[in-house]
Amino acid sequence: MNISELIKSSGVVGAGGAGFPTHVKVEAEIDTVIVNGAECEPLLENDKWLLEKESKKVIKGLEYLIDACGARRGVIALKQKYKQPMIAIKKAIGKRKSVEVFELGDFYPAGDEFILVYEVTGRIVPEGGIPLKVGCLVDNVETVLNVYEAIENKRPVTRRWLTCTGEVEVPSVVNANIGVPLADVIDLCGGITVPDAAVVIGGPLMGSIEKDLQAPVTKTTTGIIVLPEDHEIIRKKTIPVEFIIKLSKSVCCQCTYCTEMCPRYLIGHGLKPHLIMRQINLGIDIPAHIIKNAFLCSECGLCEVFACVMELSPAIMNRSLKERLIKEGLTPHFPERKVEAREMKEYRKIPTSRIVQRLGLSAYREKPLRRGVKTDPERIELLLKQHIGEVSVPIVKVGDKVQEGQPIAEIPEGCLGARVHSSISGMVTFCDDERVIIERQG
Ligand code: SF4
Ligand code: SF4
Repeated sequence: MNISELIKSSGVVGAGGAGFPTHVKVEAEIDTVIVNGAECEPLLENDKWLLEKESKKVIKGLEYLIDACGARRGVIALKQKYKQPMIAIKKAIGKRKSVEVFELGDFYPAGDEFILVYEVTGRIVPEGGIPLKVGCLVDNVETVLNVYEAIENKRPVTRRWLTCTGEVEVPSVVNANIGVPLADVIDLCGGITVPDAAVVIGGPLMGSIEKDLQAPVTKTTTGIIVLPEDHEIIRKKTIPVEFIIKLSKSVCCQCTYCTEMCPRYLIGHGLKPHLIMRQINLGIDIPAHIIKNAFLCSECGLCEVFACVMELSPAIMNRSLKERLIKEGLTPHFPERKVEAREMKEYRKIPTSRIVQRLGLSAYREKPLRRGVKTDPERIELLLKQHIGEVSVPIVKVGDKVQEGQPIAEIPEGCLGARVHSSISGMVTFCDDERVIIERQG
């Protein structure tokens, strides 16, 4: 098997949250592979931990990716302020010529791959495009580690690292079985410390609320953030879109700050959230191409958290507009045009500390973090779609005995997708076209 086949066989997908199947990405011909170690969402600590603890494996994984894509350059991009990971990575690189470190400033969203590509190479990913279009493959730290394990040890993706923090007794960086219930991870971290809590899956800015704590950890679960139910982040995530629209109609003053601060606008893209807000607010005749530009939004949330003086959320508006346009059958197409970063870009980098302060997360950042604990569940629930592409097809049935690491679902013939493997040894007790449940026996 070649590198791409080994990655495919192990079910590796983008672990940073996107879930794009990695074997498809490595088939592209590019010149630069970038490991995204920015980890810019506040409170998440898994990638920093891996860069420090598994630096040699990350470098080796990066070298495999360079080989697979025929690239000339490999870059580990991490923030200058990540002192210990930086020392470990530089030591692991040693005298290698084809791999280097890129030291990022401490701003949000340094980990948006369009922004990362610009910072590292000066290239601008075209509107509606992906980094491969400008010769770059970007993968997150854990994805690269999974590539290493797939090639070196033929080890499939059965576990993932995540940060469980906020209102839990012992905030921790956890090595979790894929399929373990969120509640088990929270229990491992000493349980919830407030009477009325809400749980955000992912980072505090881009993550979403999960009400069902029996829901499973997936290949893309980067964090479990427990917050008081009345926390500002939870309040904002639960406001109905209809209410935001009403509010926006009455208070959006068209100050344009959301546009002026938008990272995607600043790299030269045509996204102008204030114009989208104007269209929604006033229903006036803004050309279709401006509304379509909602597809250029990364949903980083900077406009909502930092820019808007009226506490409105162009990010949520853009998300709901995208959902509506997709439902109406619109396929976004952006004709190729030359884009240049805007002059003010360098002066509008927002320090992460300001974001943390605005989000009311400073106290959680101070808490000590335990690292390296592992889940060991009696029962797992494996979702058959944890990735971009088609739902995987189960290849087991109720009553089958499976071993840890055994594939339980395959990519449908000729489709984009990812294999799913069991993260424990046990018996299949439930199976349909959405999930497989496995329980330990005896
Ligand atoms: S920053 Fe807020 S008030 Fe100003 S244009 Fe944007 S949405 Fe409207
Ligand atoms: S969420 Fe706001 S700031 Fe971020 S890309 Fe979208 S419009 Fe720009």
